[in-house]
Amino acid sequence: MYYIGAHVSTAGGVFNAPGNAKQIGANAFALFTKNQRQWVAKPFSDEDISKFKDEMQKNGFTADMVLPHDSYLINIGHPDSEKRKKSLDAFIDELERCHQLGLKYLNFHPGSHLREISEEECLGLISESLNSAISQVPEVIAVIENTAGQGSNVGYKFEHLKAIIDGVDKKDRVGVCVDTCHTHAAGYDLLTKDGCAATFEEFGKIVGFDYLFGMHLNGAKVLKGSHVDRHHSLEQGELGVDVFEFIMNDSRFENIPMVLETIDSSIWSEEVELLRSLKNGRTSNIQ
Ligand SMILES: [Zn+2]
Ligand SMILES: [Zn+2]
Repeated sequence: MYYIGAHVSTAGGVFNAPGNAKQIGANAFALFTKNQRQWVAKPFSDEDISKFKDEMQKNGFTADMVLPHDSYLINIGHPDSEKRKKSLDAFIDELERCHQLGLKYLNFHPGSHLREISEEECLGLISESLNSAISQVPEVIAVIENTAGQGSNVGYKFEHLKAIIDGVDKKDRVGVCVDTCHTHAAGYDLLTKDGCAATFEEFGKIVGFDYLFGMHLNGAKVLKGSHVDRHHSLEQGELGVDVFEFIMNDSRFENIPMVLETIDSSIWSEEVELLRSLKNGRTSNIQ
């Protein structure tokens, strides 16, 4: 089955996310389990946790449909050991929060070398941090997101994702999330069906679909290879909908949460519907 949704709000409490997702007709969602722009969060109360679990059940969600996203501040590949430790502690807390909520995944941005160390060294530090985090929190799978390669971010090549995975001891605790906007901005061709076939074949060869635990479905305001991370609505911008039609008709993308991080949340329900309509061919309203 295809699990499609969006990165929904948790305003008022984390337990509001499942209902917000249901409201847009989603059968998947992403969320922040804490304020994504702050280091420290209040721990969940037992009531928060039980309300979240009740809402999950009430709205028909299971853990494999949910892709929590970590804080933007975290850089577990930070060149400075003290700052890396601060990030690692925050990352462990994020894993712990997912575990408390009964969730299966934690999606994170791999990290940045800040032009102080090489990409290779940064990737090695990320694996090392993951090994430490994974040994301290059970079960939750750390899901590395590919990036646009903006600034000094690593993770813009499939080889980077593979290198991080190679350095992780417990392979069943690591996976990847592919963001369509980032992939396009990083220079991969998702503009045509043939381009998509070639790009995902390369992904399959280098990383492997066994490691694919989520997708971010986003349009792009930027040109292919721009290395700039600017999302757009699905039907607008420089990416086009061929990639979404490709994904919706390829069973390798089934049974993983695929979430919109598109810029206009007022049309998310239409975008969810659009994605569903792309299965078995395009409908008349799409160019
Ligand atoms: Zn993303
Ligand atoms: Zn992005």
